[in-house]
Amino acid sequence: MTVTLLSPAPAAPLPPLSAEQEHVAAWSAGHLRVIGPPGSGKSVAAKAALLRDPEAMLLVPTRIGASRIREEISAFAPPARPLEVHTPSAVAFSILRSLAVAQGKPTPRLLTGAAQDEILAALLAGQADGVGRALPWPPGLPQSVLSIPAFRNELRDILARAAEFGLDGTELRELGRELGEPEWELAGALYEEYLEVVALADLPITSGERFDSARILAEAALALEEWEHRTEAPAPSFGRIIVDDYQEATAAVVRLLQAMTSRGAQLTLLADPDVAVQTFRGARPQFVASAAGDRGRGEFGAATLELSSVYRGGAVLRNVVATASQMVAPISAAARRRAEARQPGGTVRAVELRSEAAQASFIASVLRAAHLEAGLPWDELAVIVRSDGFRNTLVGELRRIEIPARPESRRMVLREERAVAPLLLAVEMAGSAEVTSDQAVQLLASPVGGLDPVAIRRLRRYLRGQVREGAAESLASALVAVAIEPEAAAALPNEFRSAAQRAARVVDAARSALAEPAPSPRGVLWAAWDASGLATHWRELALAGGPRGARADDDLDAVIALMTSAESYEERNPGSRPAQFIEWVRELALPTDSLAGTGQRGAGVVVLTAAEAAGREWPVVVIAGVQEGQWPDPRLRDSLLGSNRLADHELGRLGLDREADRRREVLGDEWRLFISALSRASRELVVTAVRDDDSVPSAMFDLVAREAGGAEAPETIERLDLRGLVAALRADLDADPGSDSATLLAALAGQGVPGADPAEWAGVGEPSTLAPLAVRTLSPSKVELALQCPLRWALESAGGKEAGRIEANIGSLIHDIAAEYPHGSEDELLAALDTKFSELELPEGWVAAREYDRAQGMLHLYALYVQQVPGEVETEVEVNVDLGDVRIVGRVDRLEHVDDGVRVADLKTGAPKSYDDVLVDMQLGTYQIALGEQSAGARLVYLTPGPADVKPRPQLRLPEDGGEIRANFARALSQMRSGEFAPVVNPGCSHCPVRTSCPAQDEGERCAS
Ligand code: SF4
Repeated sequence: MTVTLLSPAPAAPLPPLSAEQEHVAAWSAGHLRVIGPPGSGKSVAAKAALLRDPEAMLLVPTRIGASRIREEISAFAPPARPLEVHTPSAVAFSILRSLAVAQGKPTPRLLTGAAQDEILAALLAGQADGVGRALPWPPGLPQSVLSIPAFRNELRDILARAAEFGLDGTELRELGRELGEPEWELAGALYEEYLEVVALADLPITSGERFDSARILAEAALALEEWEHRTEAPAPSFGRIIVDDYQEATAAVVRLLQAMTSRGAQLTLLADPDVAVQTFRGARPQFVASAAGDRGRGEFGAATLELSSVYRGGAVLRNVVATASQMVAPISAAARRRAEARQPGGTVRAVELRSEAAQASFIASVLRAAHLEAGLPWDELAVIVRSDGFRNTLVGELRRIEIPARPESRRMVLREERAVAPLLLAVEMAGSAEVTSDQAVQLLASPVGGLDPVAIRRLRRYLRGQVREGAAESLASALVAVAIEPEAAAALPNEFRSAAQRAARVVDAARSALAEPAPSPRGVLWAAWDASGLATHWRELALAGGPRGARADDDLDAVIALMTSAESYEERNPGSRPAQFIEWVRELALPTDSLAGTGQRGAGVVVLTAAEAAGREWPVVVIAGVQEGQWPDPRLRDSLLGSNRLADHELGRLGLDREADRRREVLGDEWRLFISALSRASRELVVTAVRDDDSVPSAMFDLVAREAGGAEAPETIERLDLRGLVAALRADLDADPGSDSATLLAALAGQGVPGADPAEWAGVGEPSTLAPLAVRTLSPSKVELALQCPLRWALESAGGKEAGRIEANIGSLIHDIAAEYPHGSEDELLAALDTKFSELELPEGWVAAREYDRAQGMLHLYALYVQQVPGEVETEVEVNVDLGDVRIVGRVDRLEHVDDGVRVADLKTGAPKSYDDVLVDMQLGTYQIALGEQSAGARLVYLTPGPADVKPRPQLRLPEDGGEIRANFARALSQMRSGEFAPVVNPGCSHCPVRTSCPAQDEGERCAS
C-alpha cells in the first residue's frame, strides 16, 4: 500500500495581543488564574506565554489538541527549541519513566483504553463462568450484569475515579463497606483482581510496569511526592506550567499539578467553568473556583485575572452564548458572563425541520450556500452534534446528498468497520475446515467481493440451477466453493466471476500466509489485504475527494488502524496466532482512535461532537439535533456503580446523593456542552431540531430561537446542487415552455450535467422503434401474461423480474423434491425435505419454523396426490416443439401416462385458480397444443395447504381445431409480435414486478406510455 502525505496548511501567526493577554504572557509573580468566556483569547495568551518563556510547558486536555497546537505554533518557536505542549498523561508518563531510569528499572508502559478493556472483558467473562475470586455481591443485583457491555463501561469509570483519588481495590472496598455502598465493595473486589492481572502481565521482569490512563496520573503525583524515598537521583523540577482549558481538569490532574508545584512549578490556569466538556470523564470545573484558595485540594493561592472582551464573532453571537451561560449555576466569579464582543454582527438562526431527512437536507443547503455563495472553503464549515452515534449517521446522510462530510477523529469499533470485517472474515475462512455458506455470502457481499443483494440473489438462483443439473451437490457447498476456490470462481458466468475471484483470491492469499511457519496476525492480514487490490482503488477515490472519496478515506483509516492494532497486539502477546488476534478484535467493544485523526485530511465539512469541537472555531457552525431527549441527554451517567457519587464523596461534596441533585448536575453538564458548541462560530450559527410525531425541539433550541427572534420552519428546502437546479429548471420549463430555462438546461447539458439533456427525460421523446418484435421461441408460462397485460409481458421478457422471495424459494424446493419422487410416500418426501431444507438458508427462528411447517403441508398433499396416479410418470420433461414459425420451449412438471395418451400435470404452490379459469389456462393449453394428438388433457395440482383438498383442477383435451385455447394462442402470439405494448390494468397489478415502470400506476406515471 502506498501512503500519500498531504502537506499541512501554513500556520497563521498569532494575532496582536490585547493588554490583558500581554499581562498573562508576561506574568511571573506566582500562580495565576485566568478566567474568560469563549473567544476571549485565553488560548492565544497561553500560546504567547509558552513562546515567550523557554522554560514553560503548556498542558492541554487531549492528545489531538496538543498535536494541533504544536502544528500551529511550531513555525514561530525559537529555532532548536522543543515545543513543550503535552497532555497531563504524557507528562505523568515522562515523570514515571525518569523514575524508572533512575531506579535502573525497565521503562513503564501505558495501557491503552482498548487493552484495558480487553483485561476487564476477560476478567468479567471469567467471573461469569464462575472462575476468579469470590465477590461481595450486592443484594438485588443480578449476576447476569457481568456479561453486559454497559456494566463493563461503568466498572471502567469507577476504577478510573478510584485511581484518580489514589484508592486501590482494597481501599475502595473498605470505603464501600464503611459507607454502606455495596456496589463500591463489588467494584473494589474487581479492582483488586484487575490490578493483580495487570501486575501478572508485567512479567517477565524485562518489561516495564503498565499503567492505565487513570492510574498513571496518580502514580506520577505519588512519585513526585516520594521521590527522595525511592531514588537518590535528583528529582525533576519545573518552571512555568500553563494549563489551557483548566475546567477540564480531573482530581488526578489537580493532584499531579499540586505535586509539580512542590517541585517548583508556577501555574497559569486558563479556564471558563461554563464550558467544560469532559465532565463525563471526571472533569470537575469546580477546581477553577478552588484554585484561588490556599489550603486544600486544588488550592494554589492563585491571583485572578478576568478577561473582559470577546474577539470571536459579533455581538449577536456573543449574546446567545452569554444568555445560555445563565442556565449554568455560576462557579467562581461570574463577571466573565458580562464580557462584551469587540465587534457588532454575526447571525443566529434556529430552524425546525419535519424529519431527520429534512434536517440533513436543510443542513446540506446551509453548507452549500456558505460554500457557493459566501465562497467559504468546505474546511471552514462545521456541524456539531451531541453524540458519536448521531455524528456517524449525519456524516452518512450528508455524503448521500453529496456534501463532502468527514468526522473529526474517527473513533471506530474495528470489528464493525466495513473495510475491516471482510479481512477478519477471509482469514477466519482461510483457517477453517468448515466454512459456512453464510460466511461465503458475507464475503461476496463485502467490499472485497462487491456484489450487491440483487446480484447475490441472482448468484443463488444460478447455483441452484447448477445443483438441479447435478453440477454441484448443494447450494450451500456451491456458494462456499465459489467464495474460497479460485477455480470454482473462474467457472462462474461473467456477471459474478470477477467478484468471486477477488473473494477467493483473498482467502487463498490468507491460506498461503497461514501455512507459513509461525504466521503472525499482521502478516496474514496484510496478505489478505494485499490480495484484495482495494488499496489502489480506495486511494484513487480518496484523492479524488467528494463523498465517495471521504468514504474511501475512512476505509483506508480503518485498515491502518487494524494493522496498527495487530502490531501492538503482537508486541503485547509475543507468539500469538492470527485466530487469537481476530477473537480479540471481535470482542473489542471499545472504540479505537484512528491515526488519521491527527494528520491532515482532504477538504471537507467536519462533523464532530461538542467535546471534539472544544477549543476550535469556524466561520459557519451548524448545531444539529437539539431536541428533547437528545440534547440535553438527561440520563444519569452512572446509575449502577455510582462513580460520580464516589467522586463527590472524595471531593467532600456531600448532598449530591439524591437523584434530583444528580439530575440537576447532569443537566448543568449538558448546558456546558451546549454553550461550548454555541461559542464555536465566528460568523454564522445555525441550530436545528426535528419536530415530528416522536420529537420536539428542546429547551436549548427554544433559548436560541428566542435570541434569533423566533424559530424558522421552512416548507421547502433549496437543494442548491446541480440536481436541484436541473429539477427547478425543468419545472419552470413545464410551467412556461417559452422561458429561459431551456437555454440554461442546454448549457448544463453541454457540460454533461445528469438530467439536463431532454434525451434523458423519460416519456418526452418519440419511441425509438415501433417495428414488430421477432418472437421465435415461446415459453408456455408467458402466453397468458401476454394476453393479460402486454406491457408486463414485454418488460418481464426484457429482464423486469421480481426479487427472489421466500415463497418462490419454497416452491422451487418442493418442485425439486417432487421431481425426484414421482411416486414418493409421505415418509420419503419428508426425509428429503429434512435433507434439503437448509439450502433455503433461512435465518433461524420463527420464519424458518413457519416455512418448514408449510413445506411439510405441501408434501403431505403431494403424497396424497401421487397415490391417485399409480401409472408411469415422467418428471421435469423438456418440451421443445416447432409450431410453424415459433418454437414452444418449456418444462413440464409431470407427464403422466394414462390410458388415452399423456397428461400434463403442473404443480402449483400459490393461490388456486377457479375450475372455470383452469379450463382456459393458457400454460396448460399451450402444452396441449405442443403435445398434439398425444395429449389426454392437462391439470393443475394445487399443493397449497388449506381447507381445499388436493383434487386436481382439470383442463379437457382440446378439440380437434384447438377451440378457444388455439384462438387465444394465436392472439397472444400476434400481440407479442406487435411493436406496441399497452398496459392493461388487472387484478395481478398489485403484485406486478414492473409496476414502478408502468404508466398506468402512480409509482410509474413518469414513464413513457
Ligand atoms: S402494473 Fe398492471 S397494467 Fe401495469 S404492467 Fe403491471 S400488470 Fe400491466
